[in-house]
Amino acid sequence: MQSEEFRKHAHQIVDWMLDYYENIEQFPVKSRVSPDEILSKLPASAPQHGEDMDKILNDFNKIILPGMSHWQSPNFFAYFPANASYPSLLAEMLTAALASQCMIWDTSPAAAELEEQMMNWLKEMTGLPDTWSGVIQDGASTATLTAILTARERCSNYQINKEGFNGDQKFRVYCSTETHSSIEKAVKIAGIGNANLMKIEVDNSLSMNPVALELQINKDLTAGFTPLCVVAALGTTGTTAMDPLKQIAVICKKYDIWLHVDAAYAGTALILPEYRWMIEGIDDVDSFVFNPHKWMFTHFDCTAYFVKDEDALVRCFEILPEYLKTQSRGQVKDYRDWGIPMGRRFRALKLWFVIRSFGVEGLQKKIRYHIKLAEKLESWIQDHSGFEIMIQRTVNLVCFRYHPQNISDEKELDRLNEELVNKINSDGKIFLTHTKIHGKYALRMVIGQTNVEERNIVEAWEIIQDVVGLS
Ligand SMILES: *Cc1c(COP(=O)(O)O)cnc(C)c1O
Repeated sequence: MQSEEFRKHAHQIVDWMLDYYENIEQFPVKSRVSPDEILSKLPASAPQHGEDMDKILNDFNKIILPGMSHWQSPNFFAYFPANASYPSLLAEMLTAALASQCMIWDTSPAAAELEEQMMNWLKEMTGLPDTWSGVIQDGASTATLTAILTARERCSNYQINKEGFNGDQKFRVYCSTETHSSIEKAVKIAGIGNANLMKIEVDNSLSMNPVALELQINKDLTAGFTPLCVVAALGTTGTTAMDPLKQIAVICKKYDIWLHVDAAYAGTALILPEYRWMIEGIDDVDSFVFNPHKWMFTHFDCTAYFVKDEDALVRCFEILPEYLKTQSRGQVKDYRDWGIPMGRRFRALKLWFVIRSFGVEGLQKKIRYHIKLAEKLESWIQDHSGFEIMIQRTVNLVCFRYHPQNISDEKELDRLNEELVNKINSDGKIFLTHTKIHGKYALRMVIGQTNVEERNIVEAWEIIQDVVGLS
């Protein structure tokens, strides 16, 4: 492709982007294609001869777009959002143009230094200890794996990295029964074994029971295990339940156990001073992760991972092949040594654009607005005799179910609510998902999409009532 042709198509695509965002509510939020429908429209072999960009773009609209769910639609209430925003999109365009590989300081000093400062900004914005260090990772799953590997190495005096497991190490890792599946994945990959992930019971609000945690630790110590790491969740994926960090931190300190905090989604709420109660006890935490790519209007991938002991992290992951030896080593941060992949995209730029463009105040305003909308939706549900709230709301996720007064059979209620979710989603106007709360099927509605407004939740609530015939 020649440069003038690129200019033409680049302008076309910017126009496409704007039209897309302006008309996004016209698309069915959840894609309606069936399995293999897209595959059957794609040629089995690659073209021998180059094709015209107009033709490729046309196929993008015709074949690909119908197979996409529209995560940036303000009618997207499913899972947790993977937020974006215009400032973030502009930065992603520049990052794509620079196409730099930012593995070490030498390969792009500005990328490394901007990353360092963005992590400092986030630390201050969220009230994390200012002596900690931060690094951008691709996902919370990677960050949690990084934490468990660092805990493993610190605990074994960096011997497992060197010699491998010798059979003496019998580690145990702890999380609640509600914690994200990434903990299980990390424990498997780190060689600790699934059987050594102890899932601690939760109370009524689905928060970890710290008394049960300490009991299990004592049991394991008696049986000759080494308690390695506790993962506390601030905002579980099912219901945004909050584990009692302060009490867990006291236990971890007492038994010298690495404490990792998974605040992947709800961590963004820490930008609001009124939510800092979540991190009471933070000084005794070893590592902490939250995802600006979920609720802080910054494109995926952008996970903020913070550690108390930078040296332990770097010692765990450092590698130094001849071709990566540089003169600047020791004076600068080579982020390749702060995590698993060597190659790294320039991800700090979009954070810089987002934080500067919104300002801390602008971010706070939007996050508060989302929480207020969730509060409103919650009150409408509470006031309706055919529905019920299933658990106390902590931030902007509302969990509820349809519960007609003449039905009390739990199986029947599960069935009705499952049917309800399927009907709502196939209608295409809104998209939401479900969870199980104390075994009961519940609908989850997250009010956190960048552009969601009151009119979107008013309409969503009408759709839900319409589908069950209760409007
Ligand atoms: C989303 C989520 C994760 C996983 O995040 P990724 O960035 O997709 O790896 C982990 N923990 C919690 C609590 C989450 O909500």
